[in-house]
Amino acid sequence: MILASDTARRGSRSDESPGSTDEPPIIALSNIVKSYKMGGEDVMATRGISLTVARGEFVAIMGASGSGKSTLMNIMGCLDVPTSGHYHLDGVNIRSLADRALSRIRNRKIGFVFQGFNLIPRMSALQNVELPMAYAGIKPAERRQRAIVALSLVGLGGRLEHVSSELSGGQQQRVAIARAISTNPALILADEPTGTLDTQSSVELMTIFSNLHAHGRTIVMITHEHDVAAYASRVVEVRDGMIKSDHVQRALAPAPSRIGQSGTTTIDADEFEG
Ligand code: ADP
Ligand code: MG
Repeated sequence: MILASDTARRGSRSDESPGSTDEPPIIALSNIVKSYKMGGEDVMATRGISLTVARGEFVAIMGASGSGKSTLMNIMGCLDVPTSGHYHLDGVNIRSLADRALSRIRNRKIGFVFQGFNLIPRMSALQNVELPMAYAGIKPAERRQRAIVALSLVGLGGRLEHVSSELSGGQQQRVAIARAISTNPALILADEPTGTLDTQSSVELMTIFSNLHAHGRTIVMITHEHDVAAYASRVVEVRDGMIKSDHVQRALAPAPSRIGQSGTTTIDADEFEG
């Protein structure tokens, strides 16, 4: 019962509540404009978005299809650069970095979870989780150890050697979360992570995100489902490439976890605190 016990420790981390230290915000976006050329015309995907996310926040970004959510996420994830405006990631001005430094900071600071899981099909769960750590220059023995811990945390300690095709959609997404947290990133970015999952798998997934948040993780997640956004501590609504509303809320407490009760190795979740 690793995941359920995590919630009990929540109180002991009040010293790390958002904004209580002098640390820079994880995300500071200032007047971000992104336009694309489409058949000679400029498509404005974002029209001047300013957004600050403090350490430890769990932000849901909502909005209709085409409102600019993925564009914003790609910029936050350093996968794309804005046409104009400034982005500081954990205090670092992204514009000041050359390509190599940018990919290094991306590997070190950000864990990605996508709607389509993006796992490598013929690799085992363990190998999929180890891969980004290899890029981050972590030694093989440590990669293995961290991958086992991360997979156990998401309730897949008993599925280490299964390849993606032998796992359900919900399990594949949990491998993707294990992969995202294994490098101990400052920020977890998720683009519609429950988009293709059934209700039960979505609840299990949100329970994992909730517990990561309770452990002080910073999470920014795109979703168009209100049920999913309810787990976040703040909801930002985007419309036509601009922020329409931004409010904090009491995050829905995670449902008691049923995953991790059988076939998993019990490893203390504290190993993953940032
Ligand atoms: P969302 O994720 O909210 O559905 P996107 O950020 O994907 O929205 O897209 C916002 C707008 O920018 C849309 O009008 C979309 O067609 C356009 N857009 C996004 N990416 C590109 C691209 N690579 N080239 C051209 N237009 C794009
Ligand atoms: Mg999108």
